[in-house]
Amino acid sequence: MKFSKAHAVVIAERKHGDSDKYIVLYSREYGRLQCFARGVKKLKSKFRSRFELLTCGIFDLVRSSNRDYHIITGVSSQEAFFSIRTERSKMLSAMLATEVMDKMTVPDDRDERLFMLYYRFLRALDAGRGAEDALCALFLLKFSHISGFGINTDSCPSCGAVHEGGNASARYDHDSGGFLCRECSGKTPSGGFSAAPLLERIKELSEIRSLDEPALRRASGLLTFLVRYLETKGECSIKSHDFVKNNFTIQKMERIGI
Ligand SMILES: [Zn+2]
Repeated sequence: MKFSKAHAVVIAERKHGDSDKYIVLYSREYGRLQCFARGVKKLKSKFRSRFELLTCGIFDLVRSSNRDYHIITGVSSQEAFFSIRTERSKMLSAMLATEVMDKMTVPDDRDERLFMLYYRFLRALDAGRGAEDALCALFLLKFSHISGFGINTDSCPSCGAVHEGGNASARYDHDSGGFLCRECSGKTPSGGFSAAPLLERIKELSEIRSLDEPALRRASGLLTFLVRYLETKGECSIKSHDFVKNNFTIQKMERIGI
């Protein structure tokens, strides 16, 4: 038996029998952890309300030597994220980011930067007023860079030609996963779409470290594009995006040159 503590957030949960739960944590110390919590669904369980999605705190964990998951024995120093839980648009943004954390991270691939990004995103979302879609877009852009899925804004992903001259001829193609040169875009079924302003914005936002007002303004309208980009890269479907799309008035894609 090995005991440990981890600062973590519940990113997925699944019922097991009448009273137990499988839980996935993303932790600062160990990255993604598969866990098991007993008795959490019994009415009188003291943990009953503690291991829901987005539960964040210091978890007590026990790892049995012959098992590949941890048993959660408690959680302390919880953060309530009250505003996220009570405001629909905040909750939808949190769900989208959490689904990405669940679907696009793997066990034994600890990255403290990823935990801190996700944690800071949740805190900013909880404290913020409005611009939840832009905040979520910034999270996705930074997630893609840290996870090694970053958008290549320097050169054509197909032939390697460097984008020059203000990138005026760059065209974006989702299936190619990047900004193609004019020649390569001519060979794709879609032909890509004119993307010079988008390329400049992604470049600029990739450098930004804060989540302040100007950064959020620049990220506005990019959420759908970034979800689609990550779905292509991760070969998965981000289902919460459908709820988010229906909820937010997302700026028309034409405004960013799509
Ligand atoms: Zn090319």
